[in-house]
Amino acid sequence: MRIAVFSTKPYDQRFLEAACAGTGHRLIFFEARLSVETCELVADADAVCAFVNDDVSADVLAALGARGIRLVVLRSAGFNNVDLEAARRLGITIARVPAYSPHAVAEYTLALILTLNRMTHRAYNRVREGNFALEGLLGFDLAGKTAGVVGTGKIGEVMCRILIGLGCRVIAFDPQPNPTCLGMGVTYVPVEDLFSASDIITLHCPLTPATRHLVNEAALRRMKRGVMLINTSRGAVIDTQAVLRGLKDGVIGYLGLDVYEEEADLFFEDLSARFIDDDVFARLLTFPNVLMTGHQAFFTREALTNIAETTIANVTAFERTGRAACEVSIEKIAR
Ligand code: NAD
Repeated sequence: MRIAVFSTKPYDQRFLEAACAGTGHRLIFFEARLSVETCELVADADAVCAFVNDDVSADVLAALGARGIRLVVLRSAGFNNVDLEAARRLGITIARVPAYSPHAVAEYTLALILTLNRMTHRAYNRVREGNFALEGLLGFDLAGKTAGVVGTGKIGEVMCRILIGLGCRVIAFDPQPNPTCLGMGVTYVPVEDLFSASDIITLHCPLTPATRHLVNEAALRRMKRGVMLINTSRGAVIDTQAVLRGLKDGVIGYLGLDVYEEEADLFFEDLSARFIDDDVFARLLTFPNVLMTGHQAFFTREALTNIAETTIANVTAFERTGRAACEVSIEKIAR
């Protein structure tokens, strides 16, 4: 099949070409994000390959359908950018990469927790300038602290194991408790109790109508003063304005974000020669206790290999059987 790949970076090209070798598929790479304006780039392609900030809304799907596209393969686990109802109506199959490396994201979450706590990023700069003073670098022991994990699917489960390994007491909230986590000694609690009892809160749920702005003013009012909040799931699980206020009044003691509500216009691009036209983002960067990164938690060799191989396997299965291996549909979500 001819596959139009959107939001392509050099690393996507490398890993996808390696996975494609010998399959007979042809990859056509575009740096542009998928949108109503860029749909026409698909030309005579049979399938579209999209990433997290590509627009796979009803309008885009209708335009792709009109050009004969019957398959959209996502290079991601999350599919909050896809209008699944429109895809069903238009007969377009959506496939994703359900589990490319839960370790990549969970280990990166640990990196954010440890960096924020022990301030190795600040120490690195100090030492390079000959400043060996420790004032301002005081951290805390993670052992014995209560860590709250929101969403204990594939990534949340690995996160629970890591946190237990560090000696934390782990509590969790998930509408579908994970038996493996229960077996590890994780205690499931209502989300309100998780907010009030945790020293560290880490988010690993998908972005859905139920989780949009899950961390809002009301949630912040319950939190311990000085709590550490980490988000490596999707930006809009957090109400950024509320969190900004939480930082200002000291409720949030540490904030680690790998995702941001308005990241689509910022992340994955080198904007260093421009100014950041997003006042909320710019304000967040002024806090010494905020660590933000540009959606890189997934970015390991193992994850990119799995993403590319699963993406190509989805296309091959669709070509052979009319069904992709890892389809995501409105019916499956409802189950
Ligand atoms: P998963 O489907 O295995 O697990 C998600 C869990 O969240 C499930 O157990 C589900 O029951 C739970 N959940 C659903 N609604 C919930 C709610 N209202 N409150 C609490 N929990 C809820 O998914 P996963 O592979 O663990 O990935 C989780 C999320 O991480 C993805 O949806 C994606 O948004 C994000 N992610 C981010 C990156 C990154 O690079 N930053 C990479 C991969 C995934």
